[in-house]
Formats: sequence, structure tokens, C-alpha cells
Amino acid sequence: MKVIVAVFLHVCIVSFCFAVDLRSSHAKLAFLDVGQGDAILLITKEGRTILFDAGPDRNILKELPQQLPVFQKRIDLIFLTHPHADHLDGLLALLQSYSVGGVVFTGVLYDSSNYQLLKKELRAKNIPMFIARYDEDFELAENVLVDVLFPFDSLEDKNFKNVNNSSLVAMLHVNDFTCLLSGDAEKELESLLVKYYAKDLEADCLKAGHHGSKTSSTWPFLQSVQPQETFVSVGRDNKYGHPNHDTICHLQIWGAVKRTDNDGTIVRFLLQ
Ligand SMILES: [Zn+2]
Repeated sequence: MKVIVAVFLHVCIVSFCFAVDLRSSHAKLAFLDVGQGDAILLITKEGRTILFDAGPDRNILKELPQQLPVFQKRIDLIFLTHPHADHLDGLLALLQSYSVGGVVFTGVLYDSSNYQLLKKELRAKNIPMFIARYDEDFELAENVLVDVLFPFDSLEDKNFKNVNNSSLVAMLHVNDFTCLLSGDAEKELESLLVKYYAKDLEADCLKAGHHGSKTSSTWPFLQSVQPQETFVSVGRDNKYGHPNHDTICHLQIWGAVKRTDNDGTIVRFLLQ
């Protein structure tokens, strides 16, 4: 019995030290399992919280407490890639329970009552709103940078035939680690990015555009990004048939593919 207790204590102490060490030197990146939609959380080693999209519904309120420190009810900055419901609607739920330091979005025109409601709520709560542009980046903590790659110009009050292609695209840098977050960018926007950035799109990991659909993750785009790991935010048995089988095969040629429908919430600790 003593041996078992000793081993148990040793495991606890080792785990505790490991946890403390991770907290003090690592950022945590979590691709949240919010069903069919996107929500990606970054917690810096200083405890700053950044969210990229907030998923389709109140699922975000179940997922966040599992990743955040107990009693933390604040998100410092939210990037809304585009105003589709599967990225935006969770933000409306989140605003009821969390304080939010600011929201970065493209300002694109989109006819949806929840988009209008969100802007109204943000104004009512005096939450600063920033219009994203590629030449304005966000230094969020020591060695943490969100480099906005798209839009090239302000999309405020601009019309888009396919609002997926208005997605805010950003390269997340945590120390030497890079992750390309492409919202729901489809092939038209991907080819624009390849034309403009070419090899500068190269990243350690990719958040696959548009839930791994066949309209995204084109081969020239993947040749530029060369992702060693790809994350696909997708709901189990979703009605859109996402992700596409061929798209997943293409992604697997470059590296490992993790999916929130199969793997649940995916967490990576990054040396910051
Ligand atoms: Zn989407």
C-alpha cells in the first residue's frame, strides 16, 4: 500500500510541477469542440485570453470553462472572421456571461439579424470594435502576435457575393510557432493569398478553411502553407457533409489532421 501511495504522490507532484511549468512558460491554444462552427481559444502565459470566432450557439459556454482558469469570466480580445452564424452566434451567448475587452472584425455588410444584434450589443456595452486590415497587427503579449493578412483594405460596409471570402485571415505567432487561421476562406480568397504572400504563408499548422469543405484547402494554397498539422473545426454528422474526403486526403499528404468531430477539443501547449 505504501508503495502505491508513494507512486501516486510522485505522479501527483510530477504532474503538479509540469502544470506549473506549463502555466509559467507556455501559451495554450485550443480548438474548441463547439459542433459545426469555429471557436479557437488562445491563453497566453500571462493569462491573456484571445478567441477566434465563438461557434454557432451556447456550446461555447460549456467549452470555455474547461480551458480557462476557474472563475475567469473575461475574454480580452475576440477576432470575428466573418458574420456567418456558425462563427458569430456563440458570441451573443458569450456576451451574456463574459466581459469582453474588444472585438476585431471586418465590418463587411451582411444581412442577418444576429449580426445587427451583435453590433448593437457591443455598442450598448461600450466594447471597442476594431476594423481589421492587413497592415494593423496585434501584439497581444510577450512573443504573441496576430498578423492580419486579409482584408487588404477596410471591408466596412462592403458587399461580398460570398461572405466566406471576406474572412479575416491571420497568422498567429507564438514565439517561433505559427498557425494560419483562415476562417471560412474558399478557393478565390486562397488564390488571392497565394498571389500576394506566396511562401510567406508557410506555417507550422493550419486551421483548415470552411470546415474542410471541398471549396477550400486548394493544392496551390497548401503548397504555400506546407502545414505539418491541420485542424478542422467541424460538427459530427453535420448536414453539409463537411469535411470533404478528398480535402482531408490532400491535407494528410502534408501532415497530421485533427478534427473536432472525432478528437473533441484539441489542445496544444506552445513555448511562449
Ligand atoms: Zn463556417
